[in-house]
Amino acid sequence: MADASKRSLLQSGGLMTAGALLGCATPGISQTGVKTPFAVPAVYIPIVGSDEMYPVRRVYCIGRNYAAHAREMGSDPTREPPFFFQKPTDAIQNVASGTVADHPYPTLTKNYHYEAELVAALGKGGRNIPVDKALEHVYAYTLGLDMTRRDLQRAMGDEKKPWEIGKSFDRSAPIGPLHKVASTGHFTQGAIWLRVNGQTKQSANLNQMIWSVAEQIAKLSEAFELFPGDIIYSGTPENVGPVVRGDVIEMHIDGLPNLSVKIV
Ligand code: MN
Repeated sequence: MADASKRSLLQSGGLMTAGALLGCATPGISQTGVKTPFAVPAVYIPIVGSDEMYPVRRVYCIGRNYAAHAREMGSDPTREPPFFFQKPTDAIQNVASGTVADHPYPTLTKNYHYEAELVAALGKGGRNIPVDKALEHVYAYTLGLDMTRRDLQRAMGDEKKPWEIGKSFDRSAPIGPLHKVASTGHFTQGAIWLRVNGQTKQSANLNQMIWSVAEQIAKLSEAFELFPGDIIYSGTPENVGPVVRGDVIEMHIDGLPNLSVKIV
């Protein structure tokens, strides 16, 4: 579209506010005093040791960030770098520590998989963030499950269509409460494991990530302007696999309380 016709579209639209045109990076949100015909709930994650809640803006995920998992998914980690996708913000299912939350088996799948992942929550945004400054942007960490309708993900991939239905469905992102960096430090190594009904399925070390959290932030900020409220699922190690109704998943990362869900 030519610039002139873009301009006239914006002018005739009447929806763009002066703030948006002046470069507000998130036009259409955060306006006060706006009347709406119905309410849309915002998404928050509890912060441990605080009465504040963390407001979630976007959920980014890294694909194939552990070499052995990349290979089990049929790719060659020496030739194909990790990559990004997103889940909708309202895919988040908050899971309190010390509880076993009911997690619904989703529709349309016959091969529902767990993926245990470290999650970084940003407190500062930016573009083209250098690796050596990237960790300053992390506000907190937690652990989460990138639940996946593997059959649908694979089918869409085979047809070269978007993964959306396999990855970005309702409640596909169970997550623990956030732990501020100030209390945990950064997570560059340590055990990450996942058990189903007490049996170990995934077991690896965070230092096996291809892109560290700092590198993930740097890479992501080349593709998207990042903002406070953005969270990043940092990818899963090898040995992903299926669960069925009645199974209990427990996942662990050294330095964080475990996360547990029961598939119902
Ligand atoms: Mn994943």
